[in-house]
Amino acid sequence: MPRYDLHCHSTHSDGLLAPAAVVARAAACGVDVLALTDHDELSGLAEAREAALAAGITLICGSELSVTWAGITIHIVALGIDPANATLADSLAAIRGGRSTRARRIADALATAGIEGAYEGAMRYVTSERLVSRTHFARYLVESGHAREMKDVFARYLTPGRPGHVEHEWAQLSDAVGWIHAAGGQAVVAHPGRYQVDAGGMRRLLTEFRDAGGDAIEVVSPSHTRAQYGEFATHARVLGLRASCGSDWHGPGESWMELGALPDLPAGVVPVWRNW
Ligand code: AMP
Ligand code: MN
Ligand code: MN
Ligand code: MN
Repeated sequence: MPRYDLHCHSTHSDGLLAPAAVVARAAACGVDVLALTDHDELSGLAEAREAALAAGITLICGSELSVTWAGITIHIVALGIDPANATLADSLAAIRGGRSTRARRIADALATAGIEGAYEGAMRYVTSERLVSRTHFARYLVESGHAREMKDVFARYLTPGRPGHVEHEWAQLSDAVGWIHAAGGQAVVAHPGRYQVDAGGMRRLLTEFRDAGGDAIEVVSPSHTRAQYGEFATHARVLGLRASCGSDWHGPGESWMELGALPDLPAGVVPVWRNW
């Protein structure tokens, strides 16, 4: 059976390697079918597609859309989209539009907490201002000695209730699903185990996603425990959603799991790739 990895990042969002290098590494790791899913961005796909052709693997054009749902940020992975689709491209440009002002606000909040120069610091890690994310701030905070490693930075500085956290409104859930479908893709709830919701909230989120036409749940993710693989497989079966898997790889030394190092989907789910 081919090896699938349907979630990863390059320098076209908050990953550390260029798209071609991500593809080459995935191929070396034994991945047969790779989706590049940069945050709210499609610009890395052309390079990735060429590299996949050279490496003899299949590239699925993807993205990871930032959504605000019930006051929390959730991520929706798009798979199999047409990168030339204007509805999707324009909508993603609109989501990204908020990133640079948000970054200024994050830097101001960090300055209030006594951390100077964070905006310029974060900018040193990003290839374009429109792509700036909390990950770039996190790299600066590690570099400047405010945290020992990437794993601490978010918990200490960049999440709700912490000094560098700012509220931000991303896309609406139903809009995100609609744009992905307009571009011919499938919509997948990314790493649901990471969201700060109780059991009822999770059911509401996944049901609303299904009712909006959503296609799949990312069941296998390094953000999940083995028990959660089973839990989200059950959600998928009950709701009639398909199942996906992705390493959410960001770069050497910064990821919980290597590209393609994913266990099989649990039995009894329909893979998101069933009709590919
Ligand atoms: P943003 O889109 O700017 O809010 O940044 C979100 C990104 O930060 C995610 O895509 C992850 O790559 C990264 N991230 C969020 N939470 C954590 C965490 N606890 N540890 C490491 N990286 C995280
Ligand atoms: Mn990321
Ligand atoms: Mn994510
Ligand atoms: Mn991701």
